[in-house]
Amino acid sequence: MRIWVNGGLRDADDARLSVLDHGLTVGDGIFETVRTSEGRPFALTRHLDRLTRSARGLGLPDPDHDEVRRAVAAVIDANPVALGRLRITYTGGLSPLGSDRGDHGTSLVVALDGVNRRPDSTAVITVPWTRNERGALAGLKTTSYAENVVALARARERGASEALFPNTADRLCEGTGSNVFVVVGGRVHTPPVASGCLAGITRALTVEWTGAEETDLPMDVLAEADEVFLTSTLRDIQAVHRVDDRELTPGIGPVTAKAMRIFAERAGDDLDP
Ligand code: PLP
Repeated sequence: MRIWVNGGLRDADDARLSVLDHGLTVGDGIFETVRTSEGRPFALTRHLDRLTRSARGLGLPDPDHDEVRRAVAAVIDANPVALGRLRITYTGGLSPLGSDRGDHGTSLVVALDGVNRRPDSTAVITVPWTRNERGALAGLKTTSYAENVVALARARERGASEALFPNTADRLCEGTGSNVFVVVGGRVHTPPVASGCLAGITRALTVEWTGAEETDLPMDVLAEADEVFLTSTLRDIQAVHRVDDRELTPGIGPVTAKAMRIFAERAGDDLDP
């Protein structure tokens, strides 16, 4: 695997950042995961715009989009894969051991690996830990993902592939790496960004293309929803067949199936929607 690190491509074994990189010492970094298909990145402009929003939220200098695009093109070229997960990581750079960032530049790492398509349907759990919709990091895609790692491990222990968080007001928020949609009485709803969820790119496209509504939802909507589905870059739309101990309709519900069809058609048209 060839990885872009601070200005050039390196073999994975030689791709190095300082052990004092702020991204490692205090998690002061941001990232994007972009899907590539036959060497073409999907929705790259939206990912770069979100990278900039996350950088501003953390007080990092704006990433140089031209440089990131050059790095993305070089990494795609050097690592041919059919379906790929491109990871763009941007951090506060080399720093002393303290938590003060200082002026030590930034680090940019871009890597790509091949992935398999996710199953069309999956099981999820809910977790008691909360997303802080009023926190400084709300809605930012930072490398401080440890809480998601813990929640995902809990999901795996329980035979599920994703964990859903409430926010501090006990409203439905999002998954560890996905946004959540529910179907109630034939209408599709997803929590608003004010719930503290990430402004997911797949979420935005799904809302735009299917007319889903952004609605503040109680957690117990999951006990009554007719259908539930997840959205994310690597899933597109993925049906949910179990939430905790509640089995939903087996297979893929009709509203979810329709959303999947619309998404596949529209996303196929335009790689940078
Ligand atoms: N929520 C979180 C916490 C995420 O990490 C992600 C993606 O990784 C998403 C939602 C889905 O966002 P996107 O559709 O942009 O991949």
